Amino acid sequence: MEKILEVKNISKKYQNREGEIMALKNVNFRVNQGEFVSIIGPSGCGKSTLLSIIAGLEKKTTGEIYIEGEKVENISSKIGYMLQRDCLLEWRNILNNTMFGLEVKGMKNEENKAYVKNLLKKYNLYEFKDKYPSELSGGMRQRVALIRTLAVKPKILLLDEAFSALDYQTRIMVTNDIYSILRKENITALIVTHDISEAISMSDRVLVLSKRPGSIKDIHKIDFGMENRTPINCRENPKFSSYFNTLWKELGVDE
Ligand code: ADP
Ligand code: MG
Repeated sequence: MEKILEVKNISKKYQNREGEIMALKNVNFRVNQGEFVSIIGPSGCGKSTLLSIIAGLEKKTTGEIYIEGEKVENISSKIGYMLQRDCLLEWRNILNNTMFGLEVKGMKNEENKAYVKNLLKKYNLYEFKDKYPSELSGGMRQRVALIRTLAVKPKILLLDEAFSALDYQTRIMVTNDIYSILRKENITALIVTHDISEAISMSDRVLVLSKRPGSIKDIHKIDFGMENRTPINCRENPKFSSYFNTLWKELGVDE
């Protein structure tokens, strides 16, 4: 399989008033084209730090990041980033929100505009294009945020607790929805979550980080052997609880 992201020997030391905090230690892994990989680990173990380093937003202390074999030195245009807050601009309508990334990057040409409109149509948002974010549900807002992110055709999408602001019921529906869009558009995704079930239901592999300084404790392959896999039908699969128990135990053990 073709690798798209390579994380090599990443360590991160933060400097603050009390001294140094070692946030990450010797993190190594790869993500292949089209793969969905989740990262789970205790709160404060460095998950967000790791994503920020991969995106080129935060400096690393040691190591290298490669995307499609190219070293990431500063903010990478090959990366899309989705956060817990959808960061939609309330004063722009839906169409203009989804075009925002293209504008910022100077990529708003006819071809890209058509691509965005097509995504809006395909994912049932086109009829809402003249509405404003406050008129949409939380789930629809996340879908708009996703289309804005996909508009610039990132090579890999990073999601940092992207669904954790939603209530449980909505979260299940939205993850199902977003998952199917990402699969259809053949996107590669790296998903940070503190939710073990979300990680299992969405991923091909789950990386478990140790408590701070975060390092990789284990990597689990998730394979339900289903053809038309969705997060919801994974949750109903008999194998789900055995994956859950393994990860639960692994997260609970302090070294
Ligand atoms: P997680 O996302 O796994 O909860 P973070 O990556 O946010 O963890 O944080 C890892 C550790 O680094 C925490 O102890 C946090 O307090 C510390 N940290 C994060 N950002 C900074 C910063 N800008 N300056 C100093 N320390 C930080
Ligand atoms: Mg975090």
